[in-house]
Amino acid sequence: MSTATAHTAQSSLYEKRTAIYQQEVDGFWQRLRAALLIALAGLYLVLPWVNHGQRQAVWFDLPARKFHVFAVTFWPQDFILVTLLMIAGAFGLFFFTNMAGRLWCGFGCPQTVWTKFFMWIEWFTEGDRNQRILLDRRPWSLRKLSRKAAKHAGWLVTCAAVGFTFVGYFEPIRDLLPRIAAGDVTGSEAVFLAIASLALYFDAGFMREQICRYACPYARFQGAMFDRHTWTIFYDPRRGEPRGHRGRSVERAKAGLGDCIGCGVCVYVCPTGIDIRNGTQSDCIGCAACIDACDQVMDKMSYPRGLVRFATEAIIEGEAPRLVRPRLLAYGALFSVVLAVFAVMLAARVPLQLDVLRDRARLYRVTGDGSVENVYVLKILNMDQRDHVYAIELGAIGNGVGSHSIVLEGSSRASVAAGDVREVSVRLRAPVSTPAVVSTSVDFLVRALDDPDLVVTEDSRFLAPAAASH
Ligand code: SF4
Ligand code: SF4
Repeated sequence: MSTATAHTAQSSLYEKRTAIYQQEVDGFWQRLRAALLIALAGLYLVLPWVNHGQRQAVWFDLPARKFHVFAVTFWPQDFILVTLLMIAGAFGLFFFTNMAGRLWCGFGCPQTVWTKFFMWIEWFTEGDRNQRILLDRRPWSLRKLSRKAAKHAGWLVTCAAVGFTFVGYFEPIRDLLPRIAAGDVTGSEAVFLAIASLALYFDAGFMREQICRYACPYARFQGAMFDRHTWTIFYDPRRGEPRGHRGRSVERAKAGLGDCIGCGVCVYVCPTGIDIRNGTQSDCIGCAACIDACDQVMDKMSYPRGLVRFATEAIIEGEAPRLVRPRLLAYGALFSVVLAVFAVMLAARVPLQLDVLRDRARLYRVTGDGSVENVYVLKILNMDQRDHVYAIELGAIGNGVGSHSIVLEGSSRASVAAGDVREVSVRLRAPVSTPAVVSTSVDFLVRALDDPDLVVTEDSRFLAPAAASH
């Protein structure tokens, strides 16, 4: 193989991006989509400004390793809850994908949401599809420069708002804004802000469908979750073919044509630039723009709507729809079970943790009156939203050496602020005389004085010379 041929073969592995000039389209699905996208973007921008009590309601406090979500604070100790939530989310995604295809991609994914906002800014500043094509083909002029500048300014303002809000989920947003205005941000905050903003600028401004096509793992594996009864967007070839141009007055039956007039509008409105008439494709994000576009064409031709529509492969092939099927039931059951386990564990969770650390320097200490002392440090972690005063008590004691007479000495109360941890030193004492070490289990019990449900126990060992048993 010659060098030139080898080079050509290698180059073909990387497809050159062809600019997509998407045509805006109106219709039921696009209005629904716009309403959802605006609601989701609004939620994202507003949420960090909402307070719960004295703090930000949704705040991922990484330095303190606490995730606040309204009344609940997730600690590192709650990783099992977070894991369950993620597993439930995965099964939920499998369930909805098997049921309704890529609804998430078209109507909920942040990539789609912000790309659509960028497209709206593009449409507003540079015009619709044909105007943008002409603008790009024209040589540079003041008019072209001003329109491009307006577009990029709009994009950058959006990026700044989105990037700032993103950082605001990790740093208290009400402090962040005046600090940015005063130039009082740390280096890591500045880098975080720049990365979040610029990532969106290149993603929603330039990469767009390339992210869905090449970078999104969900796009890769969602095909495996589809079956013949998954609802997604289909072109109906039995009705549309043979396609062909014709005048509005031409009767399609006499012309031997199907309902597709070959206008290509469904391709022009597609944000990923695909032709839905070629069948379902992994590049289709399920935005339903082609449905609205084709319905408008059908209206103009006085044909029934729905040549492109939400349907299943089985329906398109003339079979009856089937809503209930084993895989969908399995995904639904797994989603429900994991979500229920998460809910039960969250409801039963006691926002209090106790760790008992024995004094590592000495196993025990024999005092002047013949008693044996063990020293412990109790680490009390108040994971609640309120401050509490806790009583420290000795719980169950094993049947080992001197167990009948072990007593707790030292602090019996501990005041711990909400979200704080406090270390309290306590001693256990028992009478003993000879040095042969034996061990007895002991339980420490910590209970909130103002809330009887806030109680935890933690076991440890009391070590003493063997003679205590006599
Ligand atoms: S918009 Fe409808 S009629 Fe036009 S090419 Fe697409 S499928 Fe055919
Ligand atoms: S084929 Fe239709 S639904 Fe799929 S991405 Fe293109 S316009 Fe959206």
